Amino acid sequence: MFTLIRLLQRRRELNERLASVSAQIPGVLFEYQQDPHGFGRFLYVSAGTEPLFNITATQILDDPMALIHQIHPDDRSGIREIFDGSVTVATSRRETFRIQHADGSQHWVLGEAVSTPIADGTVLWRGSFNDVSTELHQAEQLRVSASVFGATHDAVMILDPVGIIIDVNPGFTSLLGYEREEALGHHVNQMAIEPGQEKLFADIRNYLTRHDFWRGEVVYRHKDGQVGPEAETLTTVRDEAGLIIYYVAVISSVNATREDFVTGLPNRNLLDNNIQQVCSEATNSHSKVALLAIGLDGFRAVNDAYGHRFGDLLLHAVAERLTLIARGSTNVYRLRGDEFAMLHTEQSSGMSLDGLCSQILNELSQPFMVGGETIHITTGIGVSLFPDDSLSPLELTQMASFALRAAKTRGAGQVSYFHPEMQTEAAQTMQLIDDLRSALANNEMLVYFQPIINLSDNSVEKAEALTRWIHPVRGSVSPGLFIPLAERSGLISQIGEFVTDQSIAFSHQVRQLEAGFQISFNMSPVELAVNSEQHMLRLERIHKTGLPGSAFVIEITEGLLLNANETVRANLDTYHDAGLSFAIDDFGTGYSSLAYLQSLDADWIKIDQSFVRELSPSSDSLVLVQAMIAMAHQLGLRVIAEGVETQEQRDLLQEAGCDFAQGYLYSPAIAPQDFIEWMRNWQKQFSRSS
Ligand code: C2E
Ligand code: MG
Ligand code: MG
Repeated sequence: MFTLIRLLQRRRELNERLASVSAQIPGVLFEYQQDPHGFGRFLYVSAGTEPLFNITATQILDDPMALIHQIHPDDRSGIREIFDGSVTVATSRRETFRIQHADGSQHWVLGEAVSTPIADGTVLWRGSFNDVSTELHQAEQLRVSASVFGATHDAVMILDPVGIIIDVNPGFTSLLGYEREEALGHHVNQMAIEPGQEKLFADIRNYLTRHDFWRGEVVYRHKDGQVGPEAETLTTVRDEAGLIIYYVAVISSVNATREDFVTGLPNRNLLDNNIQQVCSEATNSHSKVALLAIGLDGFRAVNDAYGHRFGDLLLHAVAERLTLIARGSTNVYRLRGDEFAMLHTEQSSGMSLDGLCSQILNELSQPFMVGGETIHITTGIGVSLFPDDSLSPLELTQMASFALRAAKTRGAGQVSYFHPEMQTEAAQTMQLIDDLRSALANNEMLVYFQPIINLSDNSVEKAEALTRWIHPVRGSVSPGLFIPLAERSGLISQIGEFVTDQSIAFSHQVRQLEAGFQISFNMSPVELAVNSEQHMLRLERIHKTGLPGSAFVIEITEGLLLNANETVRANLDTYHDAGLSFAIDDFGTGYSSLAYLQSLDADWIKIDQSFVRELSPSSDSLVLVQAMIAMAHQLGLRVIAEGVETQEQRDLLQEAGCDFAQGYLYSPAIAPQDFIEWMRNWQKQFSRSS
């Protein structure tokens, strides 16, 4: 008796525990017994059956048919089979069936059970029922979106939160040429974004964290090397907790449309169309057509410095000005990025081709007011002519672009007419950019140092770091050639870091000969316009080796960027606070504004070699140089003359009060070891002469 009570008590405890455990598990647990005569009943059904079946556990325990009746008639056979079938070995079954609720809604339930046959032919099924409607719905949605993903003509790319490509569709392959396997696992920047645009993705991502949707133009590099802007929308996909799980990028070819949506101008596609028509008219009237490719200088730098939205506004303003020049005719197009085009025929514009070019150069050199900033830009123009250059109208655009590139290499505000060699030049430039990418890794870069002499006592306390590229085939390539390429391709930062490191190493060496020795290195405006982190790291490297900030001078040129931009200014401040000073390089060739010099906190100006070259006792250059020196001294700046080649130049400079001189008269830039040698000799000679 006593034992029986204890057994019952124990059983109640167990039941309670089972009930509390099953209450924590989603779905319903059950035990079902099927006897050898085909009679079945539920031995156990956990609580929580109502949301699934609309009936209580007790109802099911009382009559298993009550459950069967809840099941959609079409799905009943599957579940009956399980319960009616006799099995002799342990089996497991999974069955999904629909339950029709009283409110008309339909749920999908997954029944899972394992059978245990008992010797007398009885079978015990133990298992669970779960509502899987949501999962099935999601899977269905995935299937649908997967088929849309595959079928859409647009290129679709799925990126993980850092920008790694996790999937692309066939449209991606047909637009950009990369196979799915080639694309997966790559960062979108490495894979398809045109070099130099890397920052764009970071910008967009930044924007997406706040807005979840971005639309704009991205310049993609197609597998065949072709580069083109593509209209893109990027959408953020977040999980339930709001964390970004991936980005979906839909890329559609801008060329498929006819209007450029940044400027509202007709695009390249429409130009290709119109040009054919204009050329055939010209053929009939025996007249000529000129295609002008108009490119903005330093547009990338503006984009980097002020952001892409700002860049878009500037493009818009440029488009407006060009449209005015074209007298509202539809002859202005946007080709790509910072390139515009205009068609000129003798009849259309009512002015000569030369007149049109100089008007464009002139109008675009007037400052632009964009987003509260005053922006100066310069422009270059490339011209191709029909029928002179090509009888194929479609080739004209490319030829004009080649000519534009040539114009740009000649400097700001130039017009170049196409000539056939340009095609090979352009190909060579592309090749050179490719070579430049591997130059650092292949140890083809060297940093040389050129001494800077104090004119008051002939001492050498300063040197300028100048980078040399020894190309495996071409030999030495001038920085005048590769620095602009490095700026264009985004490699300039890597070069800058390399120069800093080499300067640090050299500084330690040379400071053993001259304790306060200062090394100056050149920093491109493009470099200064990028994030400050990189500049912090450079300072850290300097400090780590125990050198004071005053061991270095940064040479910067006078440029539009230095006027207003916050990033540049913040970076300069960082260097300044760390004790580095600034020299204004090539002084006299840019704006040379006093207010600008003062606001920059510069310590030195370097008079450009073009003035020094022309120095003679009664030259205009002498007057200019004297004025520059007087002005600089007034402002508390010291003066270095560049490119001093003769004793006469040196003497004139000294008489004019110039503080330092640098040039072939003393030494060209030389390797660090040679410099140490040179300096020892110089010091010997100098102590002899003093
Ligand atoms: P820069 O900073 O004005 O450098 C002076 C240039 O004049 C150097 O040319 C130098 O070799 C040359 N030079 C020096 N003395 C004389 C002389 O007596 N006569 C003549 N005719 N030339 C002399 P380089 O090395 O070809 O560099 C050209 C420009 O490339 C530099 O002009 C500088 O703006 C840029 N550059 C060089 N290295 C770097 C670098 O590491 N980073 C950046 N951002 N720019 C660099
Ligand atoms: Mg310099
Ligand atoms: Mg210079």
